[in-house]
Amino acid sequence: MKLYSTLDRKVTEIVPIKKGQISMYSCGPTVYSRMQIGNIRAYVNWDILHRAFLYLGYNVKRIMNITDVGHMTSDDDFGSDFGEDKMDRQAQKEGLQPIDIANKYIDTVLDDFRDLNILSPSGETIPEDLNYEEVGEYGFTRATEYIEEMIDMIKKIEKNGYTYETKQALYFDVTKIKDYTIFTGQNLDEKNVGVREEVDVDPQKRNPADFVLWMKRYGKYKNHIMNWESPWGNGFPGWHIECSAMSTSLLGEYFDIHTGGVDHIPVHHTNERAQNIGAFNHPSVKYWVHNEWVVNKDESKISKSKGNVTYLPTLVELGFDPMDIRYFLLSINYRTRIQFSIEALEGAKNAREALVRRLRELGDTKGDVIPEYTGRFKKELENNLNMSGVLALINELLKEDLPQKDILATILDFDKVLALNLEECITKKEPMDIPSEINALLEKRMLVKEEKNYEEADRIRNQIENMGYRVLDTPKGQKLEKI
Ligand SMILES: [Zn+2]
Repeated sequence: MKLYSTLDRKVTEIVPIKKGQISMYSCGPTVYSRMQIGNIRAYVNWDILHRAFLYLGYNVKRIMNITDVGHMTSDDDFGSDFGEDKMDRQAQKEGLQPIDIANKYIDTVLDDFRDLNILSPSGETIPEDLNYEEVGEYGFTRATEYIEEMIDMIKKIEKNGYTYETKQALYFDVTKIKDYTIFTGQNLDEKNVGVREEVDVDPQKRNPADFVLWMKRYGKYKNHIMNWESPWGNGFPGWHIECSAMSTSLLGEYFDIHTGGVDHIPVHHTNERAQNIGAFNHPSVKYWVHNEWVVNKDESKISKSKGNVTYLPTLVELGFDPMDIRYFLLSINYRTRIQFSIEALEGAKNAREALVRRLRELGDTKGDVIPEYTGRFKKELENNLNMSGVLALINELLKEDLPQKDILATILDFDKVLALNLEECITKKEPMDIPSEINALLEKRMLVKEEKNYEEADRIRNQIENMGYRVLDTPKGQKLEKI
């Protein structure tokens, strides 16, 4: 498998630490609102990666965090530690406790994942009845359940001399890491400009880019609702320590792949990497891989805070199948920006429906996979998840002069990775074209049944049967079946 490694700045052969096994950590959702299309993109892209590794025969150990501790990071590109706690704000808005907000939105994440065929991090189909209480059994790690691990890791970082304490917080001193800005190549002065105002919030903070490991329940945060005891006083963890602590406590001091959005590169992942070095004296992640933004047609950012949000249920209400959205997102490489619009989504819908119609024509699903094509499919996956190559391969295969049932079996095999529910879609009966005279008879039969004229109802039933349709009386009314 080759992927684009952000640190190496090139497409790189992924050599797992343990042969045949992939350990992978994915930055997951912050649960104070529903996911919008930009978040969904990341989870679809990394689900494809997860499934691709499984298809290629790897053993995958994967974790995804759920940020259910309110964190202060603001939306600016500098990731200020003194922003607003969005979980608290949402809790006040909905008249709930922050933990109830988290639970509520974890359930919406599970709903969306299920609808989009996104596997749980543990590699399973998400069960219908899975809710926020049992997500831990499926590889989702809730930050509030790992406070102890975070405190342990902060202690290590402190012992190694990377921290200092003020009245307000325990900070990571970024000047102690020599290649702190390795991801962006920025020098620290450039980075400092954006966070300068924070010095006013905490006059004891040494360098503007230093970030919070533990925030005390003090000053601006003296009434913060979620709080825990720690060696640095009562308070709550900084955002970045969550991912470092959960990834390394579950996957080990060294693991293979860390995924996230490109928006995480300059602050969140820069700080995660610094924390790992702070605790272990070496980095932990072998390959950082990032997905690009979803933007509006005018290239402006789609974000939760700007109001131009796009949620899955809204799109379903507009007549899209969740599989249209999955097809749309998987058809574009994770490294390419996606311009989102309803027209673009309609294009994907048409393409997916055309594929389903074509597959339906092939008939029998019980053929044999064609090794030449599964081999080429693997090559496309291994080539930095070349999904446009995969779609082209499907088109080519559909034109081949080979047994139709084998062509179908091969494409259904690809669907282990695409996860577009293709088999279910083609076996689902198409809506029947019912002749108007039959509709008229059905209506008549409904009326005579209401008048309890069952003799006449039976006569009409026979008449319809002679025209090739069987009438079934169901609790929801009459149903037709072609004979
Ligand atoms: Zn993270």
